[in-house]
Amino acid sequence: VETNQYDFIIVGAGSAGCVLAERLSKDGRYRILVLEAGGSDHKFWIKLPLGYGKTFYDDRVNWKFETEPDPGCNGRKSYWPRGKVLGGSSSINALVYCRGLPHDFDDWQEAGAAGWGWNDVHPHFEQLERRVSANGEVTGEGPLSVTDVSNQMHHCTENFLDAATVLGFARTRDFNGDHPEGVGSYHLTTRNGIRCSAADAFLRPAIRRENATVLTNAEVHRVIFDGTRAVGVEYVKEGQLITARAKKEIILCAGAVKSPQILQLSGVGPGEILQSHGIDVVCENKHVGGNLQDHLAINYSYRATQPTLNNQLSPWWGKVWAGLKYTSIRRGPLSLSVNQCGGFVRSSPDLDQPDMQLYFNPISYNTSSKRKVELHPFPGFLISFQPARPTSRGRIDICSPNPDVPPKIEPNYLSSQKDCDDVVRGGRLIQSFVQTESLRSLIAAPLPPDPLSYDDDSLLDDFRERAGTVFHPVSTCRMGENITSSVVNPSLTVHGTSALRVVDASAFPCITSGNTNAPTIMLAHKAADIILSAYN
Ligand SMILES: Cc1cc2nc3c(=O)[nH]c(=O)nc-3n(C[C@H](O)[C@H](O)[C@H](O)COP(=O)(O)OP(=O)(O)OC[C@H]3O[C@@H](n4cnc5c(N)ncnc54)[C@H](O)[C@@H]3O)c2cc1C
Repeated sequence: VETNQYDFIIVGAGSAGCVLAERLSKDGRYRILVLEAGGSDHKFWIKLPLGYGKTFYDDRVNWKFETEPDPGCNGRKSYWPRGKVLGGSSSINALVYCRGLPHDFDDWQEAGAAGWGWNDVHPHFEQLERRVSANGEVTGEGPLSVTDVSNQMHHCTENFLDAATVLGFARTRDFNGDHPEGVGSYHLTTRNGIRCSAADAFLRPAIRRENATVLTNAEVHRVIFDGTRAVGVEYVKEGQLITARAKKEIILCAGAVKSPQILQLSGVGPGEILQSHGIDVVCENKHVGGNLQDHLAINYSYRATQPTLNNQLSPWWGKVWAGLKYTSIRRGPLSLSVNQCGGFVRSSPDLDQPDMQLYFNPISYNTSSKRKVELHPFPGFLISFQPARPTSRGRIDICSPNPDVPPKIEPNYLSSQKDCDDVVRGGRLIQSFVQTESLRSLIAAPLPPDPLSYDDDSLLDDFRERAGTVFHPVSTCRMGENITSSVVNPSLTVHGTSALRVVDASAFPCITSGNTNAPTIMLAHKAADIILSAYN
């Protein structure tokens, strides 16, 4: 047997790749190779939940992409962190675990992803999760630990929850339970106060198996085809270009930015673009890199009348206290996300579904320095909204045949009228929140701008000027019926090719209402069943 010949080659050990590595190797019959461009995740700031403030700009674990100037955001470029490390973005994300709303998946099905409706995907969420309630009760036997930290919320989150009650929004204990709509605290992918990334939950058991090989610092440049059948990949490790061959399949799990780049570099994509870079076309498909969707959110920050997390985490003695609390009992602010509370709500009662996701963070900070997240040295908090289901679509395309050159990211934010209308409705919603007695009593002063001074037009102007990505790019290799509308079929095989699949956030038919880590992990979990059943 040639040593670099495998059954399956998985490209990227992120949220999706780790799940596939675990499930395909567990079967026992197949040799699996996992190639990850980044390095080990044995790093303090990755394991410590709040450490994502440190990995946010750390190029040792982060691709640190930047978009093109975006017309919808007044020509601003947007900074796009993505994990470049075992666990991928699940190693550097904000830990919020949200499956998405049931109708999101019914909409997937309607968009041509047969077999991906809520009733189809729901059992996969149940199988992959191990849910730990606030008092330590465990439900589910899956590998991914999802913890209810509601008993650790900062006390000022009560002001937000009370404000929501006054405005008529229900409270929910679990956005992933039977009543996902309403406000409450976010559950986190942590285990005993330590981050539980996809690498922790899924890859560790796989690494121990003899039939699985996981290589770090191994960056895939392209897929090798025999005709239209994928037979191997070329990757670079320690400066050497190496070929690995797959008897069964190549599975791209490189994420929504890199999977379309790899496909285009390999000859699958918009013919004109590929030819302009001298790449032979294996399969022409203009949707490769297209249909990009993302969530945008805006923060409204306030100086607070009461102590908030700024008081605990800004001064050195507060950091020492938080550090001691963490090391002794694995609790306190370092064991949490800053996104403590929020919810899924309808900005108008006559809507069929929640159209806004909210965040309430008992802390205020500045992210404009480009190198680090700076906490304000006074008590502060922020409230934020993100339209749940934006419709604008952008693109990601190669701008060079050189794999080391990052692709061109054109988000095309706020390019649909619906998305602009959503922004105004979301802004109005925040205005009603900050006028409730519960939040007024917490506000010492707005940290400009003050949303109460805005009319509809200026709410939208401010959003274009200040809103930022919530780091949820999806759909750049979207799933659908056929090559005229999509990149992969409902079995996630790339249209017009064989032995090649894309299994990651880029395969979403469209964006889900919430944060995208949980649905990505679910997608890979279900994909493993599809792949195994094709061979068994
Ligand atoms: C800062 C931040 C905060 C976030 N917060 C949340 C949150 O709180 N909740 C939530 O649900 N979601 C959050 N997300 C989004 C979520 O983490 C992602 O949607 C999810 O991890 C995507 O999974 P993926 O498998 O598609 O890609 P990734 O997890 O990004 O994995 C892709 C992997 O492929 C590797 N790779 C790429 N190119 C190559 C190549 N050429 N060769 C080899 N390997 C390659 C990458 O290094 C990476 O490890 C956040 C993301 C970020 C960046």
